[in-house]
Amino acid sequence: MIAESELQKLRELEREHLRLINLDPLQRGGVLSPEARKALDTWGDGYSVCDFCTGRLDLIRSPPICQFVYEILPKFLVVDVARVTNGAREGKFMVMHSICKPGDTIVIDKNAHYTTYVAAERVGLNLKIVPNSGYPEFRINPEDYAKAIEEVKTETGKVPSLTLLTHPDGNYGNLPDAKRVAGISHEHSVPFLLNAAYGIGRMPVSCKEVDCDFVVGSGHKSMASSGPVGVFGTKKEYEDIILRRSKYFKSKEVELLGCTARGATVITLIASFNSVLRRVGEWEREVESARWFSQEMEKLGFNQLGEKPHNHDLMFIESKRLFEISQKHPQRGYFLYEELKKRGIVGIKPGLTKSFKLSTYRLGRPDLEKVVDAFKDILGHF
Ligand SMILES: *Cc1c(COP(=O)(O)O)cnc(C)c1O
Repeated sequence: MIAESELQKLRELEREHLRLINLDPLQRGGVLSPEARKALDTWGDGYSVCDFCTGRLDLIRSPPICQFVYEILPKFLVVDVARVTNGAREGKFMVMHSICKPGDTIVIDKNAHYTTYVAAERVGLNLKIVPNSGYPEFRINPEDYAKAIEEVKTETGKVPSLTLLTHPDGNYGNLPDAKRVAGISHEHSVPFLLNAAYGIGRMPVSCKEVDCDFVVGSGHKSMASSGPVGVFGTKKEYEDIILRRSKYFKSKEVELLGCTARGATVITLIASFNSVLRRVGEWEREVESARWFSQEMEKLGFNQLGEKPHNHDLMFIESKRLFEISQKHPQRGYFLYEELKKRGIVGIKPGLTKSFKLSTYRLGRPDLEKVVDAFKDILGHF
């Protein structure tokens, strides 16, 4: 049994959590809307949507899962066909598992997320990696995809079975030219997967505009949802391949293992959708806010790595000064976490000082000013 004292601690942590400014990029876009928080309470029971099901989860009319999957989501992603998944990684795996064969090679970017690697590994794929430009911007040059595709052709005798771009990536928040990568892929007759786990739900993402063949997003990362939940989109021509039906259960889609998000996860995704739609419309303001923060941090002597001026709320900060302080501090690298916490700020990984990721998403100027002041104060203190 879990001790009552432990549960008490959990409740205290919960209360504290709500008071603090959280800079963790993983968490900023997944903060629930008030509607979703309420829905979570109502729909929190396991399989809570399933008593409305007549054989297929995504055909449930009320709650409006059917409308969400077949009308709202395709329109939002500007794509022919969409589905709700259990996360971005599940979406990537589905695509790789359906259109690639074990032993095939696929092309991915150097800034790809670890889940791209493990999804490919699970299918048994080889990877050709498009390099980034290295320090300080770590940019992906779309033209390098052409080179990588040619190399795969020379090495294996055939074109790669997929190209994938991380847009933006989860380290630097860089946004490479996805449309160009799509164009290059298609010139070589290679289908293209856009990983927009940090994009969809924060910024406008149009599959039509990019001309990607597949797109994946993450509900708990960027769509104000209680995960695990994600979204997937594809062109009509791939529908029958990716979403093929089971020969045993005619209505069930094999890659989805029949049903995906089946309870509070899909309900929070739906409950938050209108607020997500609104905030996507405010994306430019978020970019401005991120740029302002980056400039203020640079005035304090920090370096913002990745694209500059920056185009996303996730950024990578380098700090020689904080690292120097940590070398002499009795708590070593952990001092920064403690000092920020004292000032009501969390979300930077404990132990890090030399470089760390953070996100400014939906924090607003007053809170971001508090963060800048806290760093200034910490630098002045040692
Ligand atoms: C967080 C993240 C993922 C994983 O998303 P899940 O929905 O948890 O699978 C994949 N790719 C990138 C770039 C990410 O940042």
